[in-house]
Amino acid sequence: MKNITVIGAGTMGNGIAHVFAMKGYNVTLCDISATALDKAIETITRNLDRMLKKERISENDKEGTLKNIETTTDLKLAVKNAELVVEAATENVDLKLNIFRDMDKYSPENAILASNTSSISITKIASVTSRPEKVIGMHFMNPVPVMKLVEIIRGYETTDDVTNIIMEISKNLGKVPVEVNDYPGFIANRILMPMINEAIYALFEGVGGVYEIDTVMKLGMAHPMGPLQLADFIGLDVCLAILEVMHEGFGNPKYAPCPLLKKMVEAGKLGVKSKEGFYTYSHGTKELIVSDFFKK
Ligand code: NAD
Repeated sequence: MKNITVIGAGTMGNGIAHVFAMKGYNVTLCDISATALDKAIETITRNLDRMLKKERISENDKEGTLKNIETTTDLKLAVKNAELVVEAATENVDLKLNIFRDMDKYSPENAILASNTSSISITKIASVTSRPEKVIGMHFMNPVPVMKLVEIIRGYETTDDVTNIIMEISKNLGKVPVEVNDYPGFIANRILMPMINEAIYALFEGVGGVYEIDTVMKLGMAHPMGPLQLADFIGLDVCLAILEVMHEGFGNPKYAPCPLLKKMVEAGKLGVKSKEGFYTYSHGTKELIVSDFFKK
């Protein structure tokens, strides 16, 4: 496989494009927003510069990686020659179903169609295509260039062949693929999101402040970052969408998103990407400053 298309150029899409391009694949990165595409190339360049500075790659590697990525806002054009399409657009069922209808319509009939969804049923996504056996979940972790894991989610009809190809490609990218069955949240978010939601409930109920909750989990459980900071990194809108899918998918109230999380998303406080969530990020992400809202 040589030609990879990535749909969606946000937090995850730029990272996925980055790792494929670094391994020599021809990557077409597609987004409905030209601004998102420009921002993605800026982010990839910044991340490559960081790797260059740490002497993990050479100037040639950087140039080669950037040369391997082209961008477009035209999905039809983007998937025309694709052998693998990885969809990493906004976590919304209807939006993803529409994108998969188009991916199926405009990509070569042998192309494998993968989704980076965090929680939405791969079986459901596959059902709107004419090739459910070639639809699979390829769930990268954030930040993609750094994190080793890829959850590989088999839909109801995904074949062994397609699963094996995607496992191999993930290994080629230097990742560790883990095969998972198709249930809401898969493994990673099935376990992670209830913890994040519980941390938000603890804040909502006044058990502790932002600093206290994150510090307890960092120092007490040896987590590299607290659950509230992690939620900011993931994106609070993404966390809410995942919890809603799990709540609806299992019909179990234990997955109901905390009202505070809902309110923050309604207020546009989405975490790092909107420069404010539980913490504020106008100064960057190095120093942790609790948002004024939680200092009241
Ligand atoms: P994001 O909001 O940062 O980016 C989503 C991008 O999709 C935006 O640039 C948006 O313009 C684009 N988009 C929306 N509709 C589109 C369309 N019709 N065609 C093309 N592009 C379109 O979101 P994200 O955090 O990158 O999440 C993307 C996917 O990855 C979601 O399914 C999410 O659940 C999953 N995911 C996210 C994380 C995380 O930590 N953020 C981790 C693993 C998986």
